[in-house]
Amino acid sequence: MTQSNVVAAGSVVTIHYKLTLDNGQVIDTSHGQEPLAYMHGNHHLVPGLENALEGRTSGETFEVAVAPAEGYGEYDAEGVQNVPRNAFPDDAELAPGVQFQATDQDDNPIMGTIEAVDDQTVKVDFNHPLAGKTLNFAIEVVEVREATAEEMEHGHAHGAGGHQH
Ligand code: ZN
Repeated sequence: MTQSNVVAAGSVVTIHYKLTLDNGQVIDTSHGQEPLAYMHGNHHLVPGLENALEGRTSGETFEVAVAPAEGYGEYDAEGVQNVPRNAFPDDAELAPGVQFQATDQDDNPIMGTIEAVDDQTVKVDFNHPLAGKTLNFAIEVVEVREATAEEMEHGHAHGAGGHQH
């Protein structure tokens, strides 16, 4: 017998969440907007959060502290690189704090954050902005249901809080 209200692979789960760092900084929250709908087991969430949601039921609330290894990864000092200024488009805004999207050797999208700029080089941190950080999630499980056949085929949730297409 399937228990459709228990979070398992193939569930469509709707959650309210609040993500806070150890210093109290709120990074993201769904409160005040529509809750997030995702398909469980498809790695749409960071592993530590997806694991913590396994087996939960509708209406449950919980908090979980996700270590960097189960979140956005450890901070890698080698991720900070000096890039020749001429590798950027002429009209690129080059200033400390500016974030931009690039691709790595395998053509995967990666996020870069500019740390410093001089005449020749741009110092870029290619670590995820949340790398090395413990992620403190406060979660409310709003709804758990079985995915429809179409959702299973697409590999993501449809409807409110999910993909709209
Ligand atoms: Zn779809």
